[in-house]
Amino acid sequence: MSTYQTTQLESPLAPEWLAVPDDGNHLNPTVWPQGTSRTEGGELALSGLRVSELADRFGTPAYILSEDHFRSRARAFRDAFTAAFEPLCGGVDVYYAGKSFLCVEVAKWVKEEGLRLDTCSGGELALAARAGIDGSELGLHGNNKSDAEIDRALDMGVGRIVVDSLHELERVGDIARMKRLRAPILLRLTPGVHAETHDYIATAHEDQKFGLSMAQVHGEPSPADKAVSVALGHPSLELLGVHCHIGSQIFSPDGFALAAEKLLTFIAAVRDAHGVSLEELDLGGGYGIAYTDLDDPKEPTELATAMADVVGTTCERLGIGVPRISIEPGRAIVGSSTFTLYAVGTLKTIHVQQGGDVAERRYVSVDGGMSDNPRPVLYGATYTATLASRRSGAPPVLSRVVGKHCESGDIVVKDAYLPADLATGDLLAVPGTGAYCWVLGSNYNYTPRPPVVAVSQGKARLILRGETEEDLFQRDVSW
Ligand SMILES: *Cc1c(COP(=O)(O)O)cnc(C)c1O
Repeated sequence: MSTYQTTQLESPLAPEWLAVPDDGNHLNPTVWPQGTSRTEGGELALSGLRVSELADRFGTPAYILSEDHFRSRARAFRDAFTAAFEPLCGGVDVYYAGKSFLCVEVAKWVKEEGLRLDTCSGGELALAARAGIDGSELGLHGNNKSDAEIDRALDMGVGRIVVDSLHELERVGDIARMKRLRAPILLRLTPGVHAETHDYIATAHEDQKFGLSMAQVHGEPSPADKAVSVALGHPSLELLGVHCHIGSQIFSPDGFALAAEKLLTFIAAVRDAHGVSLEELDLGGGYGIAYTDLDDPKEPTELATAMADVVGTTCERLGIGVPRISIEPGRAIVGSSTFTLYAVGTLKTIHVQQGGDVAERRYVSVDGGMSDNPRPVLYGATYTATLASRRSGAPPVLSRVVGKHCESGDIVVKDAYLPADLATGDLLAVPGTGAYCWVLGSNYNYTPRPPVVAVSQGKARLILRGETEEDLFQRDVSW
């Protein structure tokens, strides 16, 4: 319920998409983890645990992760895609993209929920092994896997190596031959469907580092065609199928469907040319989540149904059997499970000349920043924030939440309306920080990385402890 006129509070400095909230205390359930609420006293709580208790126990900043949310999203993808694809190909394999966020505990949840795990480095392979995940449940990605990583993956009995180039195909073949085994591989193809946030465009797809091009140049077979011929003729390679990953933070199923169509057409062409049926098709990850009120992600069921529809009809039209389908969601499972809890420090209002007028912007400094969430700096990512330690009826003020680092680009939330009475010591929560935040974090300015706290059924526990000063300096040999 609003006690103020929102139109009068609109700032000329606000981006067009940002609305003045009717009630700044409101929590949009698509943006916040399941089980987030405000207590009667007005404090933000997750699974009944108040943020002030969490801050007292674990300090700030801290990543607060809902284990229940993570698990239910993992199940939602598994169940929705299984239901949609079971009649076509007996089911799907869902690989959680470990690069989005991973620690031993999370790898265990992945396993317990019946998902597999995608890795893209020796470190992630080591972590998977430590979490007790069988090699056969793992995929290995990367455009520049080292010999040691390929070797390690094969030693672990990896389920699939997703081969990214002709050069790598030779190397995987050579290493497998030396080890006297057959390496199970998928070929990563670039179907020319390049996703760009809310939309996708079918251009300029060749000019990036990933995958094997499907395009012929000067009448020569495409790199993808060449890779199939090499893989099928190689005694140490077992070609399971093909893979594509068209991008990230994609909302419409159209891009995935178009990519599926292109790869199925490729599979039909392989059958015609070589008499071989490729049995697996991986359609990658990239399903979008809501970072602000503006984003409207599709439910897994809707995505799965749309994709199964296209896969089914395309296979029928091409006269091929439906390959076993796999997908690789990361962000869509972990992204919205987490919010970052910060304490408010310095407040500063600056004045900007706007035509003949002077407009105001309030800078709200928090005790973290680009070291715990570099996404705004890296890709101009948009976030929102809420006053978490209490409810406020004060009018909203256009604010910019910034970190404590020595960079003017150190922005956490570029534009948000936050209550006028925000004060030093208040807790601020930023949702949507589960994916690509902790994993991309740094120690910039010798800042220790914050802890990750898992909350489930009213209980909180550390799954990654925060760094100490000792952690920071232990590699400095002259310390
Ligand atoms: C990053 C990545 C994913 C996961 O992407 P999300 O946007 O987190 O779902 C899946 N597959 C591959 C090959 C990737 O590189």
